[in-house]
Amino acid sequence: SFSAEVVPQAPEDPMFGLLRAFKADEYPTKVDVSIGAYRDNNAKPWVLPVVKKADEILRNDPNLDHEYAPIAGIASFTSKAAELILGADSPAIKEKRVTSVQTISGTGAVHLGALFLSKFFPGTKKVYVSNPTWANHNQIFSNVAVPVAQYPYFSKQTKGLDFDGMKAALSEAPERSVILLHACAHNPTGVDPTLDQWKEIAAIIKEKNHFPFFDSAYQGFASGDLLKDNAAVRYFVEQGFELVVAQSFAKNFGLYGERAGCFHFVTGPAPDASETATRVASQLAILQRSEISNPPLYGARIVSTVLNDDQLFAEWQENLRTMSSRIIEMRKLLRAKLEELGTPGTWKHITEQIGMFSFTGLTEAQALKIREEAHVYMTKNGRISMAGLNTNNIDYFAKAIDKVVR
Ligand code: PMP
Repeated sequence: SFSAEVVPQAPEDPMFGLLRAFKADEYPTKVDVSIGAYRDNNAKPWVLPVVKKADEILRNDPNLDHEYAPIAGIASFTSKAAELILGADSPAIKEKRVTSVQTISGTGAVHLGALFLSKFFPGTKKVYVSNPTWANHNQIFSNVAVPVAQYPYFSKQTKGLDFDGMKAALSEAPERSVILLHACAHNPTGVDPTLDQWKEIAAIIKEKNHFPFFDSAYQGFASGDLLKDNAAVRYFVEQGFELVVAQSFAKNFGLYGERAGCFHFVTGPAPDASETATRVASQLAILQRSEISNPPLYGARIVSTVLNDDQLFAEWQENLRTMSSRIIEMRKLLRAKLEELGTPGTWKHITEQIGMFSFTGLTEAQALKIREEAHVYMTKNGRISMAGLNTNNIDYFAKAIDKVVR
């Protein structure tokens, strides 16, 4: 019989462990650059003004109830979510080749995709993820018995993309492997391929018959431009790939805890593609039903309200620019301050990287030391969340970096 005594202790999630330690720290000038959540210039969470408006609209709607959402989620949400990531004029949408399912934020979307592939993917049941990648990718896929392999991604020398290493690994992977790609603002490195590099990557993936699995957690948040941040996904769809996208609205709507996300399956442009999409939808519905039955309402209602209203949509884009430009500003300031201090090393990568994170190049020993000595909390891989920096703490932060690097 089962005895719970055999269950071993698992380690605490490193990210949430760090957050707990930060909260318990009473040092007055402590800095949290660990978790990927936007903060305003006063280091406070920011409720997007457009989200407040949508919330107001929903609260004043006398017809709103708390009934179950459909299994695949709120249709006015999932259809607009597809338009957002694929482009409203996407051939895949026109040809009804897109199946969309509302999920428990981006994590749930990655999981649903992984689960679907573990059941139905006919190729090599192995997913290739970038080295490094968002730590959760590894356990999400291995939990559903899809083995994880890595392709090189980050060059320690240039602190940019290891493009040759990446291409070589994708070429050498067994035919019809699953390739996980970050749509934009790669986590944890902040390093993205250029569009020309994406084209070369796509050519290899096509030649090897690989299956692209896009993870899109930062659309609009990265550059402030929704179309720039989905350019890779749109390019792949234009090339006629069959692919999937896991989409999160946590960062670009500031709806972290509301768990609004979507999973999209785009079937390839075959004459019977639309029927294939219908069959895929029927299987996704069964998986969804057995796992969560119905997705949560609130976050999806907020997003749907904004995406279905031209004026609110324009305001949302304004809010996106507020967040992305503050982060870009912090990148410039941090680099300038480190260069001014003459901190050993080069700091160009801080402004070249994009999105929520910067991979500073600090070693694990330095990341631990800066926590001990300066109460600066970053993950031990040297990743910092740019959103944790502001005009009040950036001097302190730059000096702490300077000290630990010397
Ligand atoms: N993928 C990546 C690459 C991420 O960085 C994140 C957020 N940390 C997610 C997926 C999913 O986050 P969430 O479940 O909060 O939407």
